[in-house]
Amino acid sequence: MKITAIKTFILHVPVTREGISDSTHSLTHWGAPGVIVETDAGITGYGYSGTHAHLPSDRLITECIDTCYAPILIGRDPLEVTALFKEMDRFPPMQWVGRGGIAQLAIGAIDVALWDIKAKAANQPLWQHMGGTARKIRAYNTDGGWLNFSLETLVSDCRASVEEKGFTGVKIKVGSPNLRTDITRLEAVRKAIGPDITLAIDANGKMDLPSAIRLGNLAADLDIFWFEEPLWYDDVASHARLAEAISIPIALGEQLYLPHNFATFFDAHALHYAQPDVARLGGVTPWIQVAEMAWSRGLPVVSHVGDMMQTHIHTAIGHPSCTMLEYIPWLRECFTEPATAEDGYFLVPQEPGAGTTLRPDAIARFGVA
Ligand SMILES: [Mg+2]
Repeated sequence: MKITAIKTFILHVPVTREGISDSTHSLTHWGAPGVIVETDAGITGYGYSGTHAHLPSDRLITECIDTCYAPILIGRDPLEVTALFKEMDRFPPMQWVGRGGIAQLAIGAIDVALWDIKAKAANQPLWQHMGGTARKIRAYNTDGGWLNFSLETLVSDCRASVEEKGFTGVKIKVGSPNLRTDITRLEAVRKAIGPDITLAIDANGKMDLPSAIRLGNLAADLDIFWFEEPLWYDDVASHARLAEAISIPIALGEQLYLPHNFATFFDAHALHYAQPDVARLGGVTPWIQVAEMAWSRGLPVVSHVGDMMQTHIHTAIGHPSCTMLEYIPWLRECFTEPATAEDGYFLVPQEPGAGTTLRPDAIARFGVA
């Protein structure tokens, strides 16, 4: 099989609310700058990254694909996906300016598209192609705990997630200007959802070490499942100190670009739940590397879903380190088989490929120039 064409696209899709905020970001749309890889076998692969729908920076990603990596790929066999990943990852002019950031987001979109082709060529969903068996992955709801929600909205939304939608886990944002506000919101949500529901918190890298220790101690009796991105993303030493200082487990990884970054956190005992994201990490190839590292250390993998679960439901089913996945339904209208949660569990995808096949009208509806 040979790659015959590389075409890029950018989708901007409205989020399901009026607009959402965490401690660090505010957005109204989710961005999916991506790539369509065509082959001489008639199999087409789709892959994309996940962004905050900022068109100038989305264009940097698609231009990187078009001008820096497409020349490497044209005429090559897409089934040699790990070899092509290494070639892109170590392409000297790009490793000089990349090894993170835009370059890794571009490689991630391509690598997912190549795995999409590889699984389609085998006529298998990716989870099966990875060696997994059809199994239930528990869904926890992230699209309900935003920091811009009033206390009343936050509580009613979390209650609805559990009582009406059937989720057995929710995550809410913290990192308010006043730490007592976070505690008040946490106590109210825990009271509303009861003791049996998984409750996680996420500071999106906002806090400093003493504040995070204080929050961890004040929340110690609320059975918090994990404290996600409490501190600045790259600060390994402070995460290690926090992990020693509080009883709540640490989760992070959505902002890490390389498997080596995860290795550094693992070696420092600075995280408990690994959250690699194919959309940032460079695709499925390095995601598997991180999952294997976590698995060998007895640490669960609960991916961040910059792809809005489309590929991560496959990697979650396909790798034994995963038992749970977050649910954010922002890109559902873009795909032929949108990732779906029912009664608190994800349905097992049935279509061959990596879950990324666009609906025929997706680019016409959500594409931006
Ligand atoms: Mg997060």
